[in-house]
Amino acid sequence: MTYSLCCPRCGKDYEDDGRRLRCECGGTLDLRFEPSFEPGMTVGRLYDLWRYREALPVGDDVVTMGEGWTPLLPVTFDGRQLLVKQEQLFPSGSYKDRGAAVLMTHLRELGVKRVVEDSSGNAGCAVAAYAARAGIACDIYVPEDTSLAKTAQIEAYGATLHRVPGTREDTARAALEAAVTCVYASHVYSPWFLQGTKTFAYEVAEQLGWTAPETLVLPAGNGTLLLGAYLGFTELARAGIVSHVPRIIAVQAVACAPLAAAFADRLDEPVEVQGSHTAAEGIASATPARGSQVLAAVRASGGSFVTVSEQEIVASLRDCCLGGWFIEPTSAAVIAGARRFARTAALGETIVTAFTGHGLKAAAKIAELVELF
Ligand SMILES: *Cc1c(COP(=O)(O)O)cnc(C)c1O
Ligand SMILES: [Zn+2]
Repeated sequence: MTYSLCCPRCGKDYEDDGRRLRCECGGTLDLRFEPSFEPGMTVGRLYDLWRYREALPVGDDVVTMGEGWTPLLPVTFDGRQLLVKQEQLFPSGSYKDRGAAVLMTHLRELGVKRVVEDSSGNAGCAVAAYAARAGIACDIYVPEDTSLAKTAQIEAYGATLHRVPGTREDTARAALEAAVTCVYASHVYSPWFLQGTKTFAYEVAEQLGWTAPETLVLPAGNGTLLLGAYLGFTELARAGIVSHVPRIIAVQAVACAPLAAAFADRLDEPVEVQGSHTAAEGIASATPARGSQVLAAVRASGGSFVTVSEQEIVASLRDCCLGGWFIEPTSAAVIAGARRFARTAALGETIVTAFTGHGLKAAAKIAELVELF
């Protein structure tokens, strides 16, 4: 099966050889693919993300560890109920497994033997895990200060770890250079990753009896979950399976908010920011490559941005942990944003959000923050 890549900015098409990252015009690429999925098709299938296989542009020989169909649990904060999808329960500990499972399935279909990826953590863990499962060799580039829990996990999966001094952008550059001789399995550039994360939308819709919630509150670092969820609900609405695309509320940390600032100023591209330190390192992307797409998706959905302070992040981490949920500080930032939105929302509005990553990945950082509880 072949699918073409297309540039939403200039409309140019490319054949997918697993190697092209961007359009000649500089735009990021999407996949030209229209699902042939209907809700009745899931009857009798396993409860994992492959139950939506007609919505996924891959064949039947999939790279899987039974991922997906995470619980959608009501959790009450400040007297308001949020529906929180338990994305920390994935095999590698974050929702990135949705994207990695589909991307690695595709790359194995192409006959790829070796990939590189760069990540501040969880995407590297997910790609390393699914590369191991797929029998594909893997080099992961991480910033030098990446936590031991994540580097240990990446190396344990058999990937070759490269620690890069300097900024997050230096790490991305090192991976790009390495990708000249093999395939760059990028969670940010590859549209196949978004084909995986879109299963978040299919699951939420099915868990709500094939309806769409009014609102989604999701992180906006590079926007890999947000863009996937938007893509999924757009497909479901176009197919007439749900009535509308939910409004998307995108969460950034005050300390690094290039998209929230652009949204406030009605700009189409992320603004330049000098990111300062935040406990929510997973969403601290100063130069999100798909930033203009994130802005367009939030706008088209009728949504908006919220920014959360370090104090709010720690308070939400505390409240989640004291409620029994051990999640990453980055995930606590998303919950802080959802609580902020819920305070102003109409009573009875259905608000879906997520615990994006497991706390065990950030134990050392949480040990410091517990002192502030
Ligand atoms: C990757 C990640 C995010 C943010 O995702 P983006 O794609 O950068 O928007 C949030 N939480 C966790 C735990 C993550 O791993
Ligand atoms: Zn283009």
